Amino acid sequence: MVDIRGVHKHFGTLEVLRGVDLQVRAGEVTVVLGPSGSGKSTLLRAINHLERLSRGHVLIDGELIGYRRSGDKLHELKEREVLKQRLHIGFVFQNFHLFPHLTVLENIIEAPVSALRRPRKDAVAQAGRLLERVGLADKADVYPRRLSGGQQQRVAIARALAPEPKVLLFDEPTSALDPELVGEVLDVIKDLARSGTTMIVVTHEIGFAREVADTIVFMDEGVVVEQGPPARILDDPRHARTKAFLSKVL
Ligand code: ATP
Ligand code: MG
Repeated sequence: MVDIRGVHKHFGTLEVLRGVDLQVRAGEVTVVLGPSGSGKSTLLRAINHLERLSRGHVLIDGELIGYRRSGDKLHELKEREVLKQRLHIGFVFQNFHLFPHLTVLENIIEAPVSALRRPRKDAVAQAGRLLERVGLADKADVYPRRLSGGQQQRVAIARALAPEPKVLLFDEPTSALDPELVGEVLDVIKDLARSGTTMIVVTHEIGFAREVADTIVFMDEGVVVEQGPPARILDDPRHARTKAFLSKVL
């Protein structure tokens, strides 16, 4: 389970997260909605410590991320230790971020072999299963530039899954795609949801959110304004800011 407690983040005088509390239970999907600049990406980056927190903390399965506690103080972990934690927090970016000089297969086995020291043979076998799962079994030896955006994003999802993360974070995974390629990526995420993958998904795809989310979280100006099951948030928003946002996107 992901437990976000009192997280604040400021850049200079700009307060981007102003006390975010959010819990995501194992096996559940949380979709984060909110206007541009509301702090959605910063929140995802705070979870895996790509951003240092100004206040508050994040626990994943009880483990403090990015810090260790001594007494009532938090000390930042060394980069090497943070990298180890990050292996278990999958991150899928808007722009795929595949390694361009590695083939699809090499992209997927990179972390398992280099960082987790798994036998290459096992990592390759697992990559084959993951590629099957995202519908790209025939693309193992291709370089990313030969793939469509939708295919690249599906490889990125397979790569994120390879270290068997405790949670997968998605930051607008379909926003960079041509409209006709959005569905194939959402279908992969839906399949993961059905099989009980714990996920936090920032997206503007409201139909997807309604279908897949256990909880929708609406963020604005660095706080969680309201959260609840999809029907509650989408059909019966309570807060004026949620209503205003939904009236623009629905
Ligand atoms: P979008 O929907 O456009 O992706 P978002 O909800 O993801 O928006 P964030 O990217 O988290 O919003 O940004 C929140 C605010 O923080 C914005 O005002 C942004 O300009 C600011 N911000 C983000 N990163 C930095 C940074 N490294 N330095 C300074 N300001 C930043
Ligand atoms: Mg963003």
